Amino acid sequence: MKAVFLDRDGTIGGTGGGIHPYEFSMYDFSPRAIKSLNDLGIKVFLFTNQTRVGRGYFTEEELIKGFENMKEDLIEHSAFLDDIFYCPHKPDDGCECQKPKIGLLLKAQRKYNLNLKDYYVIGDTGESDMLAASQAATKKVLVKTGWGESSLTKYRGRWIDVEPDYIAENLTDAVRWISHDLLNT
Ligand SMILES: [Mg+2]
Ligand SMILES: [Zn+2]
Repeated sequence: MKAVFLDRDGTIGGTGGGIHPYEFSMYDFSPRAIKSLNDLGIKVFLFTNQTRVGRGYFTEEELIKGFENMKEDLIEHSAFLDDIFYCPHKPDDGCECQKPKIGLLLKAQRKYNLNLKDYYVIGDTGESDMLAASQAATKKVLVKTGWGESSLTKYRGRWIDVEPDYIAENLTDAVRWISHDLLNT
C-alpha cells in the first residue's frame, strides 16, 4: 500500500505559517488534487506541526474542529483524507513527533502497517517536511506554494544536504508527478 503525506499550511492551503484553525482554508485546487490521490487508490494522510496548540494560541479542540470543517469541504468534492496526524507540542517540549522528527510518520506506519519506502511526502518547508522525509527515506516532493519558494532560496542552507525528488509548482503538479512515478515503481 502506497501512502502520501501532505503537510497542511502552505501545501494544501493557508500561507505557510501557523494560523487559527477557523481561519485556515484550502487552495481552490486542493480538493481536486486530493481526490486524484484518492482515485489512485493510495492512502492520503495529513501530517502537520501545530505548535500553536502547545503555545496557547488555540486549543486542541479548536484544531480538531478546524480539521472537521476541512473534511466537510473535501466531502463536497468527493475527496477525503484517510487520517490526520498532528504534533500539538511546543518547540521546546522535546517531543518525538514535531517535524523534522519522524514520529508522525512512524505512528502512521504502525497504525496502517506501511513500508516507509512506499511513502511520499509533499510539503512546502525544507527544514521540516523535506528533512523529515529524508530521515524516513520517503520520496520527497517540495511544493513552491507557502514557504516553498523561500525554502529553495533564503532558507536553502537549513536543509542543504537534502535534494527533493521533485519540485512542484503546487499540489496539483505534485500529484501529477506522483501519479507518473507510481507507474514507474
Ligand atoms: Mg507547511
Ligand atoms: Zn510533538
